[in-house]
Amino acid sequence: MLVAGIDGHICELCTEQAYEIVQQEVHQHISDKDSEEIDFTRFTPQKLKNHLDQFVIGQNDAKRFISVAVYNHFKRLAADYDDDTIIEKSNIVLVGKTGTGKTLLAKTIARFLDVPFAIVDATVFTEAGYVGEDVESMLSRLLQAADYNVEAAERGIVYIDEIDKIARKSDNPSITRDVSGEGVQQGLLKMLEGTDVNVPPEGGRKHPEQKMIKVNTNDILFICGGAFDGIENHIAKRLNTQVIGFANKDEQQIDRDNLLKYIIHQDLKSFGLIPELLGRLPVLTHLQELDAETLKRILTEPKNALIKQYSKLFEMEGIKLHFTDGALEFIAKTAIDYQLGARGLRSICEVLLTDVMFDLPDNKSLKEFRVDKRFVEETLRKSSLIHSAA
Ligand code: ADP
Repeated sequence: MLVAGIDGHICELCTEQAYEIVQQEVHQHISDKDSEEIDFTRFTPQKLKNHLDQFVIGQNDAKRFISVAVYNHFKRLAADYDDDTIIEKSNIVLVGKTGTGKTLLAKTIARFLDVPFAIVDATVFTEAGYVGEDVESMLSRLLQAADYNVEAAERGIVYIDEIDKIARKSDNPSITRDVSGEGVQQGLLKMLEGTDVNVPPEGGRKHPEQKMIKVNTNDILFICGGAFDGIENHIAKRLNTQVIGFANKDEQQIDRDNLLKYIIHQDLKSFGLIPELLGRLPVLTHLQELDAETLKRILTEPKNALIKQYSKLFEMEGIKLHFTDGALEFIAKTAIDYQLGARGLRSICEVLLTDVMFDLPDNKSLKEFRVDKRFVEETLRKSSLIHSAA
């Protein structure tokens, strides 16, 4: 078959060959670009934190810890190993209730560094022989995120959510053999530390005929997150036993409403993470529960804040959208009262604005739309959202 050009023809075989040459060139170009090391001197912990501040509200402790850990991670990649000092990985574990910004933090960092990023859920992993995914499959996601560029994936970030769900149920391994949880933890050890892993490109379970891709995890940064429900009890217990003999002075200084800020690795061990795993997650930090004030800020302050997004949508119709302070306060308070958290802010805003957004495009006379406390109160009262949450 001949394909006609302006003043010549090309045959089908040449077309195929040309296609392959172009593919190779493109791939080479991508991997040349990606193999440029991320230069740790290009950013500082302070710069990274400033960047996080634009997207994540509050959570200062977590942001500082993470900024330093990520900075050190890239220093480690740049270090030469002529001497005997080998810098260990600074994998991170984040403890905080659901919806406090753990995933958001990890995602924002990956975007800042422009590295491949994958989110995986620890609950889908099982030990070999059980139904579920092998731990290796988390690297399949990373490979997919990196467009199967192995070199880029090997410098990516993996966020492992719900790490608390693979805790063994008892601190004492001999009493309850919670095989699956502990088995998965064991499976993670080598990967977190750094090793060659044969990854099934499509994810899921390995099967013998499948072609594997070898990925080295030495330079992959792992960030684990979990709510660790009830961890406060472990912290309180530890603090109590430690303050014995120190009179009441120390006890008074303990902020009982925010026990999470005293969290140490030992508490995660009491919760059921094995010491070997904790050893590979040296950086531990916590995220605070979001209060009404923070939720209000989340509505308006982040770069892609909800209110900014809706304003843009309205602007495209030529309408100015305005939320009063009272309205914002009421929305934040509703999210707290009905335990909807930061994720609930979106659902509340949808409920508030759906009717208006339905009518907008046909209503050419409207130039401004004002959302005040009364409007929020009345609209929410009529909606099913808060009734179903109650
Ligand atoms: P989780 O802690 O369960 O991983 P996420 O990071 O997924 O929570 O947060 C859910 C959503 O709530 C985010 O997409 C974001 O819109 C919002 N959110 C939560 N916490 C914050 C925060 N501290 N600052 C800004 N937005 C937040």
